Amino acid sequence: MIKDSICKALILDDRVQVIAIKSTEMVGEAIRTHNLSPVCAAALGRTLSIAAMMATDLNGEGENLSITIKGDGPIGSIVAACDGALNVRGYVDNPQLELPLKENGKLDVSRAVGKGKITVIQDMGLKAPYVGVSDIVSGEIAEDFARYFFTSLQQPTAVALGVLIERDLSCFSAGGVIIRFMPDCPEEAVGKAEELAAKLGEISRLMKDLSARQFIVDFFGGCGIRYTDELFPKYRCKCGRQVTDRVILSMGREEAFKTLDEQGELAAICHFCNKQYRYGREQVKALFDYLGGLP
Ligand SMILES: [Zn+2]
Repeated sequence: MIKDSICKALILDDRVQVIAIKSTEMVGEAIRTHNLSPVCAAALGRTLSIAAMMATDLNGEGENLSITIKGDGPIGSIVAACDGALNVRGYVDNPQLELPLKENGKLDVSRAVGKGKITVIQDMGLKAPYVGVSDIVSGEIAEDFARYFFTSLQQPTAVALGVLIERDLSCFSAGGVIIRFMPDCPEEAVGKAEELAAKLGEISRLMKDLSARQFIVDFFGGCGIRYTDELFPKYRCKCGRQVTDRVILSMGREEAFKTLDEQGELAAICHFCNKQYRYGREQVKALFDYLGGLP
C-alpha cells in the first residue's frame, strides 16, 4: 500500500499552484474509528483530505485549522481539524447514515449534507483566529470549497476530492487536488489549468496506485513542474485530559457535583476518537478546587 502524502508544486511558470493529497490511510483510519457507513466515509474522507491540504499553509503543531460543514441533511455536522504538523482528525454527527446511491451509482454525499454553511477557523497563533464562512453550493464538498476559496479568500481555485469504498467498507482509494491561480495569472495559464481541472472528476481512481508526487508528475507533466514541498499527514487525535478537564469545568461546580451524586462519576467523550475520560469525585473536586485557587 502506498503511504499517504501531500505534494505541493508550482506549474505553468509558477503562475498556478497545485496541492495533491493521497489520503487512503487516513480515511481508512477514520472509517475504523467511527464505524462509518459508505456515504459518511465519503463525506468525512473528502473533508479530512481538504483540511490536510489547507493545513499545509500553517506552521507547526501550534497552529490549527478546523472545518465545520453544517447542512440541513441527515448526516448532521461534518467536522475536521488539522494542525500544522498535519495531524488530522474528524467526525460526523450521524456516522451510520445509509442513503440510496445516486442514479450514476455514486454515493449521495450532497443529499447527506444538504444546504447550509461551511465555516473554517484558522488559528495561526495571532490574537484573533481567522474565521471564514461561505454557503454550501452542492454539498459535494469539492465544489463547496472552490466557492469558499473564491468568496472568502478571493482566490480562484479548482478543487477535486474523491473517496472510493470497498464492499467490505474499507477505503479503496482516497485523494484530492487543489489548483490555485496566483494573482495576475495570465489567461493562457488559467485556460490550460482549467482544462486539466475538468479531467479530475475521478480523482480517487486516478490516484489509486500513485503517491501524491507521482500523481503530479503523471497529470501535470509538460506544465513545467517545480516541486515546493512533500509532506506526510496522519490521522491522529490530540485529545487528553487537558481538553476534557475544560468540558467538566464548563459544566460548573454545582451541575458537576449534582451529576456526580446521581451517576457516581462523570464521563466526557472525545468526538474525534470516541475515547472516554472518566472522573471520580476526588478528580472533580481537585479540578474545581484548583480553579478556585487561581487568581
Ligand atoms: Zn480524541
